[in-house]
Amino acid sequence: MKLANRLEGVPANETRQIVDEVERFEKEGHDVLSFLVGRPDFDTAPHIKEAAKRALDAGFVHYVHSRGILSLREAISRNVASRNGVLYDPETEIVVTAGAAAAIAASFYSLLERGDEVIIPEPAWNNYGWAVRLAGGVPVGVPLSSSDLFNINPDDLEEHITPRTRVILLNSPHNPTGAVWGRERLLGVARIAERRDLIVVSDEIYDHFVYSGHHVSFSSLPGMKERTILVNGFSKTYSMTGWRLGYVSGPPSLIDGIMKIQQYFLSCVNSFAQKGAISALEGSQIYVDEMATEFRRRRDLVVERMKAIPDIDLVPSLGSFYAFPSFSRFGAPSVELARKLLYEAHIALAPGRAYGRAGEGHLRFAFTRPMDELEEGLARLARACATLERNASTR
Ligand code: PMP
Repeated sequence: MKLANRLEGVPANETRQIVDEVERFEKEGHDVLSFLVGRPDFDTAPHIKEAAKRALDAGFVHYVHSRGILSLREAISRNVASRNGVLYDPETEIVVTAGAAAAIAASFYSLLERGDEVIIPEPAWNNYGWAVRLAGGVPVGVPLSSSDLFNINPDDLEEHITPRTRVILLNSPHNPTGAVWGRERLLGVARIAERRDLIVVSDEIYDHFVYSGHHVSFSSLPGMKERTILVNGFSKTYSMTGWRLGYVSGPPSLIDGIMKIQQYFLSCVNSFAQKGAISALEGSQIYVDEMATEFRRRRDLVVERMKAIPDIDLVPSLGSFYAFPSFSRFGAPSVELARKLLYEAHIALAPGRAYGRAGEGHLRFAFTRPMDELEEGLARLARACATLERNASTR
């Protein structure tokens, strides 16, 4: 059967291949430590589950508003106002989505004409590019430089703008590099967005995980609320990846478009899960704080141990839960390196190439495993690098 042309070349999932290889190798009885997955290794807090269960038991099982239930939109509005200092009207400026992924896809579907270009700083989470293509747009990667600590560079960004550019995609704290972009650089981006009349989609899903400096929400910059779609969600902050809950906030004109897409794709997001989300935002934040503290400990360990490995170069992560060391001194493609580490050292890291050309030479290490596994995994990595190095020098 012939599928629509828009699906041509779209992979099922770019990291699936390495995940499958890891699973196959584990099934053969090998003890693999995997640092592949981008999700917290914590359970959802009990009070959040209880709220969803109560809603289910009370028969809260029917369709709800396409924008999301109003009480959740109100809770999101209060939360965003207190964290970012930007006020969004829950009636017209917020839509609850099926995760940040759906928020991003709906943003592009509602904004792009065929051939419109979206600026994406790279390396980048691989969904962005495919979401743009599926919506008929063209992703334009702008390389981030490790020598600039993977900071966003407004001048580089501006060089990639053409008359077809419609959107700039931002993601800070950043997956996969762990960069956190500061106010000055973001102000530079804001000036470009204004001058070129562009829309900014700002994916801030890692905003609770910042280890140095602080998070600047793009729509809090002067004049930017009017042209920004803020994307955030519950997956990472509250360890709710399987609940599929996220949201967008922005000016009514942009949010209306996203609402329309959502209406015809989904009708609405799961009703009782939204009750859980209210409890996540309004209930105790102890679990979030504990998780953030644990990620900070892990990040410190990862940075310390990776810094001590000769021949890999690490820009220390300032946020998110990823480290993105460079293995370029080994001279091998990242897919090959990831395989070597899997089969020879029994550790699984994601090849940087999966995050775009600018990710080549790097591997992504997600510190989403407990401290003892990190200790062991990093020791295996150090031993493997020593062997790899010897291989290289005897070549
Ligand atoms: N944005 C980024 C940058 C991510 O890394 C991820 C998860 N890998 C998502 C969004 C997806 O979030 P959600 O589960 O809310 O769809």
